[in-house]
Amino acid sequence: MSENWNDRTKLVHGGTRRSQYNEVSEAIFMTQGFVYETAEQAEGRFIEVGPDEFIYGRYGNPTVAMFEERIAVLEGAEDAFATASGMAAVNGALCSLLTAGDHVVSAKALFGSCLYILENILAKSGVDVTFVDGTDLEAWRAAVRPDTKAVFFESMSNPTLEVIDVEAVSEIAHAVGATVVIDNVFSTPVFSDAIKQGADLVIYSATKHIDGQGRALGGVILGTKELIRGTVEPYMKHTGGCISPFNAWVMLKGLETITLRVNAQSESALQIATALDGHAALERTIYPGLSTHAQNELVQRQLGGKGGTVLSLDLKGGKEAAFKFLNALSIPVISNNLGDAKSIVTHPATTTHQRLSDVQKVDLGITPGLVRFSVGLEDAADLIADIQNALEISQS
Ligand SMILES: *Cc1c(COP(=O)(O)O)cnc(C)c1O
Repeated sequence: MSENWNDRTKLVHGGTRRSQYNEVSEAIFMTQGFVYETAEQAEGRFIEVGPDEFIYGRYGNPTVAMFEERIAVLEGAEDAFATASGMAAVNGALCSLLTAGDHVVSAKALFGSCLYILENILAKSGVDVTFVDGTDLEAWRAAVRPDTKAVFFESMSNPTLEVIDVEAVSEIAHAVGATVVIDNVFSTPVFSDAIKQGADLVIYSATKHIDGQGRALGGVILGTKELIRGTVEPYMKHTGGCISPFNAWVMLKGLETITLRVNAQSESALQIATALDGHAALERTIYPGLSTHAQNELVQRQLGGKGGTVLSLDLKGGKEAAFKFLNALSIPVISNNLGDAKSIVTHPATTTHQRLSDVQKVDLGITPGLVRFSVGLEDAADLIADIQNALEISQS
């Protein structure tokens, strides 16, 4: 592979390893382990694993390695470790970095399971966590301390789509020697340049855009060779959060089409948001790619102006209107994944964010009328007609 290739070329060929059969499509190595020619070879491999050498499925696998190398190329990261799910990646990144007595600063607008790791798992292990409004740089400055070991945030929050300034927060964190860990799902590996902008560890739930067709769970942690092999790998390989070779293969093949899919979905999302903005049935149309989004200037700087594949609609009439809207849509399915080829609608207040208290919901802008819309690969005009019809029904 040439370093000079552009992303689309690297995503088709990056990381390819061919067996002795020279297969065109990458092989799935469904094996738990690997045979050593001699006892001496086994001994040697346990002392040091060479390039293209494997020991045990929990440590690594050729299909998994192809996925790790290909996503690392897209992200501009030195190395990557693939995990069983996005949550195994968040848990692995944070727990491998932190020990009792450490301090962490985290944005408060978090996916429920991420919040569970910070509030329950880390707190139980004696890690001190401070939550801040992630969009408020003064709050980050005030919260970091000399003993702050890491900062954590979702670069684009779920479901209210607030964008956090990766470059500015990284600068604040690095000034006290803290490691910057970013959950980058909503920004997508296609639009984000988080490593270049200062992130030390970047996490994806591969379940979302990387698969892109709702088939398998997976995740990945990206960063420097030192952090991935020195800190993350020892934790992951001994705690068992590895991805299956089959799922790694699904993700690897997903990367071949990810730029085409995510660009098309993002273009449709912008068209839909533009068509709906100001609609009589809506309190708000939230989409980071709209020029009216409060942080559109940051979106231009950080994501090349791309708003991603998800938009959120705040309907007039609260939960009743939101439920009528969901039930009246004929193309999108009601489910809780995102980044899928199929459009997916979710009512966060009663599903993904049900666990939050009413006070927390208000604080995070998760109103009863809020609907999260993950835009799929269907025709944008069909989606707009379907949404406009359902919006009308929602107010009846
Ligand atoms: C889905 C998601 C996760 C968790 O990923 P899984 O693959 O479901 O474990 C973490 N963070 C964000 C922002 C997500 O959207």
